[in-house]
Amino acid sequence: MICRVCDSTNLEPVIDLGDQPWCNHFLTKEECGKEPFYPLRVVYCTDCSTAQLDYTVKKEIMFGNHTYLSGVTRSLSDHFRRIAVEVTERFFPETADRRVLDIGSNDGTQLTHFQELGWTVQGVESSVRTAEIAVQKGVPTLNVFFNGETASTLRVKFDAINAAGVFFHLEELHSVTEGIRESLSQDGVFVVQFLYMKRIMENCAFDQIYHEHLLYYNLRTLSRLLERHGLEIFDAYLAPIHGGSMIAFVQHGDGKRPRSERLEKLYAEEDSSGVNGIDAYHQFAQRIREMKEKNIADLLQRRAAGKRIFGFGAPVKGNTLLNYFGLGPEVIECLVEKNTLRHGLYSPGMHIPVVIEDELPETPDTYYVLAWNFKEEILENNKALLDRGVEFYFPVDPDATPR
Ligand SMILES: [Zn+2]
Repeated sequence: MICRVCDSTNLEPVIDLGDQPWCNHFLTKEECGKEPFYPLRVVYCTDCSTAQLDYTVKKEIMFGNHTYLSGVTRSLSDHFRRIAVEVTERFFPETADRRVLDIGSNDGTQLTHFQELGWTVQGVESSVRTAEIAVQKGVPTLNVFFNGETASTLRVKFDAINAAGVFFHLEELHSVTEGIRESLSQDGVFVVQFLYMKRIMENCAFDQIYHEHLLYYNLRTLSRLLERHGLEIFDAYLAPIHGGSMIAFVQHGDGKRPRSERLEKLYAEEDSSGVNGIDAYHQFAQRIREMKEKNIADLLQRRAAGKRIFGFGAPVKGNTLLNYFGLGPEVIECLVEKNTLRHGLYSPGMHIPVVIEDELPETPDTYYVLAWNFKEEILENNKALLDRGVEFYFPVDPDATPR
């Protein structure tokens, strides 16, 4: 295998989460036990410092039919609205006929916020069902994988291009990045929203590692990839969404905007903390093993005392955690979820049944919160349960480090 970013063969194994099923496909009863397992291992490139998976599940398997909907959670939709307002007011307040392209546009949530601000929008989404939902909402959406070829068929330049999360997914990394450069107008702004590896390490949020996320970036490493394609980051800040997402603003390499002070500060923090060095990854792996021991001990102690434990949320990342910890229905009876597309399904690997929130007949003693990144929203919506003494156990605490 060669590095996905710089083609080097100097890749060192750093984190091994064992063989895991593809985490985004929740199973029907008939499918349980038949799901394939794939290695889930992070390797580190000693040349360009980018952390990445060494095994690729084919993108057609991964993204042809996923059931993740970004519009389901309020805080995510609010976040997307703020991004649309920020891009409009900061970069294009006077521009007539503004055009925006969203890569991996999901159910169109991000683009509806741009539409409200008068933009002409175009979505590109690979999942059939998700793309249909977007079209029904009135968001023009191409049901394809975005790459250099898609860029040439679109034939127009965009003032803004957004990509939330997708830079983790890219199998055709260089073709996609070329396509973005080609589709971005001369003064255009490419907004990359990505899980920030520095933050993932600080919070020990190892459940963010799964087969869809082929790459794990810090600003230094993302910047190396973009520069290879004539693009440069000129500003970035950390937003609390998904437990710590970096919002980076990118322009053509000969762009006019100077690098912001806060970007320089973020680069300096990466350098002084050592997060781009291999030792940081070995330490992270050790903390993951310790977390596994502690969580299992805590949950088994509750079960031994006769307590009932339900999972809160059935997020994709929860499956990394459940499979690596080996937590099945004998410990966690069910996963309580809002997304009705997962109704009646079972978690891949551990086969825990998913129950939709409104249909829940009982209350557990403990909720094991797999959707920990929505901590604030969850605690606020469940005040009544908290008052009745129901415990909300967060395996990962997004407040562990200051935002
Ligand atoms: Zn590399």
